[in-house]
Amino acid sequence: MNTLHCPPLASSIQGGLRVLQISTRSTDTSLPSAKSQEHITITTPGQGTPVKDVVIGSDAPSSLLLSKHADYIAEYGSKKDDYEYCITEYLRMSGVYWGLTAMELMGQLGRMDRDEILRFVSECQHECGGISASQGHDPHLLYTLSAVQILVLYDSLSSVDVEKVVSYVRGLQQEDGSFAGDKWGEIDTRFSFCAVATLALLGRLDAVDVDKAVKFVLSCMNFDGGFGCRPGSESHAGQIYCCVGFLSVTGQLHHIDADLLGWWLCERQLPSGGLNGRPEKLPDVCYSWWVLASLQMIGRLHWIDPDKLRRFILACQDEETGGFADRPGDMVDPFHTLFGIAGLSLLGEAQVRPVNPVFCMPEETLRRIGLDPDILD
Ligand SMILES: [Zn+2]
Repeated sequence: MNTLHCPPLASSIQGGLRVLQISTRSTDTSLPSAKSQEHITITTPGQGTPVKDVVIGSDAPSSLLLSKHADYIAEYGSKKDDYEYCITEYLRMSGVYWGLTAMELMGQLGRMDRDEILRFVSECQHECGGISASQGHDPHLLYTLSAVQILVLYDSLSSVDVEKVVSYVRGLQQEDGSFAGDKWGEIDTRFSFCAVATLALLGRLDAVDVDKAVKFVLSCMNFDGGFGCRPGSESHAGQIYCCVGFLSVTGQLHHIDADLLGWWLCERQLPSGGLNGRPEKLPDVCYSWWVLASLQMIGRLHWIDPDKLRRFILACQDEETGGFADRPGDMVDPFHTLFGIAGLSLLGEAQVRPVNPVFCMPEETLRRIGLDPDILD
């Protein structure tokens, strides 16, 4: 969701570096190998298209370490002088949403400092109504959605000026129905999702031109059944999650060819059981969520192998520190921790509360506010 990118340090950059490291290792075997590198392999199936995947070691965690994850999240926010905490200031609001949602899904929300968090959200609302990642940053739709998700979770919308939030979102809709992410004007289907999700949580979907918004998102649908960020852009699991979520919130899922899209999505599952975001990419816990949640929304969750995916997600836990990484052996972070836990919830994990695939929030919370987004059979 507002989360529709891996935080750069958590994944994208590391991902790029890691692929580079594989080629280094093949020529220089004297390099000491980090744990994460040992798990990487590249195989070439019969057709000649390279498949990047990881190998799950026999010593990888295979059961859910719930209390470790709760401790990890509870401690993360309290170490405010940590380097890692400081360099993530630009996405703090989403970080708080990831942590709180993970805690609520684990039944541990009471361990977080509610008053401090509500004060923080309130201080991040700007005169224009938009909400920023933290104080001193510009407001953006991504962080406005995260903030509203936090406030709904805490049943405390009165912490911000709701009417101003609504007019901020309305002001970002363009003539063609698309939404800009902020006043600088970048257009992306992620922002269409953020806009309608924010308004639906506030019960104010009527504030924008929904018909035009739907028309724009449908113009981003591709021949493979997927969606890109703008008309003509390549299909990508993160964008598909946003567009399918958008169509669910607006009651327009019937426009989707569920079999065609379901086929593309279930092809994201690799031999390790993990899911990637696009062909020829490595598996990643956050893509597991985006692909899985999309499959759930279009009624095709049973098209992937749930046992293998569960094994992959569990292998991404850190047994010592708690938390989930993007791939086995990598550094954990709150972003992948939420999506690991939420993914397991969609797979029916009994120790985790049911999660809603559209909003990535507890089903219980959405029931409380009377929100029941569409799901295809
Ligand atoms: Zn990721």
